[in-house]
Amino acid sequence: MDPSEFTRAAEVFIDDAVESDLACPAYGAILPPKLFDQAIAWQRHCFHGGFAGVHWPAAYGGQGLDNEHYIRWSVACAERGVAPYANFQGFVLAGAAILNYGTEEQKQRFLAPTLAADITWCQLFSEPDSGSDLASLSTTAEPDGDRWRVTGQKVWSSTAQFSQWAILLARTDPTAAHHRGISFFLFDMAADGVEVRPLRQMTGESEFCEVFLDGAVVEPDGLLGPLHGGWGVAMSVLADERAGVASTRAGLKRQTASLRHSASAQQPAAFDRVYSLEADAAAIGHLFARVGGDSKLGPLSKLGLTELNTRITETELDLRGAGGMLVDAATEPFLYAPGMRVAGGTSEIQRNLVGERLLGLPREPRPGPPETGA
Ligand SMILES: Cc1cc2nc3c(=O)[nH]c(=O)nc-3n(C[C@H](O)[C@H](O)[C@H](O)COP(=O)(O)OP(=O)(O)OC[C@H]3O[C@@H](n4cnc5c(N)ncnc54)[C@H](O)[C@@H]3O)c2cc1C
Repeated sequence: MDPSEFTRAAEVFIDDAVESDLACPAYGAILPPKLFDQAIAWQRHCFHGGFAGVHWPAAYGGQGLDNEHYIRWSVACAERGVAPYANFQGFVLAGAAILNYGTEEQKQRFLAPTLAADITWCQLFSEPDSGSDLASLSTTAEPDGDRWRVTGQKVWSSTAQFSQWAILLARTDPTAAHHRGISFFLFDMAADGVEVRPLRQMTGESEFCEVFLDGAVVEPDGLLGPLHGGWGVAMSVLADERAGVASTRAGLKRQTASLRHSASAQQPAAFDRVYSLEADAAAIGHLFARVGGDSKLGPLSKLGLTELNTRITETELDLRGAGGMLVDAATEPFLYAPGMRVAGGTSEIQRNLVGERLLGLPREPRPGPPETGA
């Protein structure tokens, strides 16, 4: 389909949905519980309307178009303040992992139901002692016949309380060097031995959870990619996560326009801050328009956007003067922004990646035992 024709059709579809109250407001990478029902209904509407999984193959429920169409869909949604999909962990993380590494059976089983919002996914990677240093994770998956039994604790698991399935990292070879003994599983959250405890955040919401695993079973067809070779799958998921967070850049223009509106009644000095944010937002937009979807730029993009988003929410609150101390529409984004500098890899980690991978600086020292073998 011609991209301009696609854009026009997408814009009409979204505008109609906004008018008839079918669209779900944009919320970034983590679905807030209060929007859950609306987001699922919006995803189903997109699926039946031919706008879910724009760049996924038609054989798996997608639209069979290319990445340019998907970017156009994301931009059309962002310009209207509408979510491009319901479940980031399903659509961007699990979906891409299954598309890239899944067996035909796994693709047939999971992809179309994910697009139709019949399956919601969460990501069980981080642990209390393994976040930035994810390769040190200690959750184990021990063989039990041709199945595995998973034991350990995960944390910061967004949307886990609503999810039927998870992408899970667990150690399958405790004798191998850190990142070499890890496998990547598609994990049934309804398995016996799974306990999900929502955590309360400073926004007052509970968007993420602790997940306790006590001998929970993974069936043989739950392994995604090679046994003990899950680190490679995880790295591709994390690159997709950074790129996915970065795709929210299309919403920056909208955010800075709203700031300019808030600033109009303020001291002229407020405009200095607003123009500086607009200039940085424009610079990020131009940078990415120039270099396209180069995955090496994911860390730079994630860093730039989440840091800028933090400054925007701080400015919005300041512009409200004393009113900024009250709980209102600007409070939640302000309280939410610091989490986005941590989720998907902290800003410090993104800076390390930019230094090493883009600027060619020497590698940071890595924690953990020295690697052995080839
Ligand atoms: C809103 C939100 C949602 C999340 N959702 C999920 C999810 O769904 N699934 C999931 O698995 N995880 C999720 N996470 C977890 C997230 O990936 C981790 O919080 C993140 O990777 C950081 O790990 P940590 O919290 O253990 O901090 P640590 O790794 O302990 O870091 C602590 C501090 O040390 C700094 N630091 C650590 N190592 C280095 C280094 N090498 N160089 C410089 N500084 C360093 C960090 O930048 C940070 O400031 C989420 C987090 C948030 C905030």
